[in-house]
Amino acid sequence: MQLSSADQGKLEDFWQHCLTHQYFNVGYPEAADFDYRPLHRFMHFSLNNCGDWDAPSNYILNSFSFEKEVMAYFAELFEIPLQDSWGYVTNGGTEGNMFACYLARELFPDGVLYYSRDTHYSVAKIVKLLRMPARAVATLSNGEIDHNDLISKIAIDDCANPLIFANIGTTMHGATDNISLIQQRLADLGIARNDYYLHADAALSGMILPFVEAPQPYNFAHGIDSISVSGHKMIGSPIPCGIVLAKRHHVERISVDIDYISAQDKTISGSRNGHTPLIMWAALRSHSHEQWRQRTLRCLELAQYAVERFKAAGVAAWRNHNSITVIFPRPSEHLCKQHGLATSGACAHLIATPHHRDHSRISRLIDDITADLKLNSRRNAPANQPCAVHTLPSVARPRSMAAD
Ligand SMILES: *Cc1c(COP(=O)(O)O)cnc(C)c1O
Repeated sequence: MQLSSADQGKLEDFWQHCLTHQYFNVGYPEAADFDYRPLHRFMHFSLNNCGDWDAPSNYILNSFSFEKEVMAYFAELFEIPLQDSWGYVTNGGTEGNMFACYLARELFPDGVLYYSRDTHYSVAKIVKLLRMPARAVATLSNGEIDHNDLISKIAIDDCANPLIFANIGTTMHGATDNISLIQQRLADLGIARNDYYLHADAALSGMILPFVEAPQPYNFAHGIDSISVSGHKMIGSPIPCGIVLAKRHHVERISVDIDYISAQDKTISGSRNGHTPLIMWAALRSHSHEQWRQRTLRCLELAQYAVERFKAAGVAAWRNHNSITVIFPRPSEHLCKQHGLATSGACAHLIATPHHRDHSRISRLIDDITADLKLNSRRNAPANQPCAVHTLPSVARPRSMAAD
């Protein structure tokens, strides 16, 4: 490859920028503890997984066999027999959510999509693209969907086919919607199981809950119709990706035969990334269940450490049960920029991602945040306000967690 020296300089600057920021992107949930060097040589090839990995394709440079193993892994993890499920490696959580909403709409053309106000912004885009009628539902103060508001909206709409978009870990608060209660309330309302659709947006927590001792309900055994997870969040990937998995008999309803690629197509994109299935495959094959469990526990412990450290300094921080997202009052704009903190309203959060091998950097960050908040409250700035008030009691410690 021929690049001018100016362009080489640009790349070098970018390289240094990446090295500097590789491990401390604390407001966002991307894990950085990965090493995909055994896969680097595949960058020589134009891999393309267009169509269905489960059917033969005319495009030979595909990684379908790896994608199949990835989907087999997630089918087992999310408790559905592989032969009863179908899904694929996506470009990320958003595509997975879109696939699920599309599926739900095709199954129930007159359905209305219900999602909580704390739902990821991708859903507002998706309902616009798919032109689906949709209703935003109130949330409880911990970020979980307000079931009473959900049920009363469905009742007021007289909606025969509600399409429920449930959060398994909201972006801002790491809150998990109670899908058992939702299903029970729908049954109480007289809506039969075959008359509604239930999607689980598990972008982050889809790789947390399978590895904790007492997970909230989230998977197929707990009644979902589909689930999407981001690959570049908890798992870690140099390229954004994810998976979506749904019940096979639903997916068959949207499948079309494509003459040109001599395959069946059920996916959203045409050409699909052939490298990301390799990445997901390598990540999954190189960790045992026990290793994922240990890694998850480490993150949860670090999150709990952060909560306690904040509290000891007089800052009302908290987290949801089984969540690695720690919420605290929003510090000054300057500090948020400096540390790449994500904010929403009066709250900010940090995410205890797996590459934090010890507590040191998080500790220093907490010192900075604490000092900043104290300064702000002396100046009477609005920052240190009501974000930390939440009514649910469940800031529980996983039983196996050691005291820090
Ligand atoms: C990150 C996130 C998404 C979007 O995932 P992408 O992989 O960024 O497309 C969707 N839902 C939730 C809850 C998320 O946190």
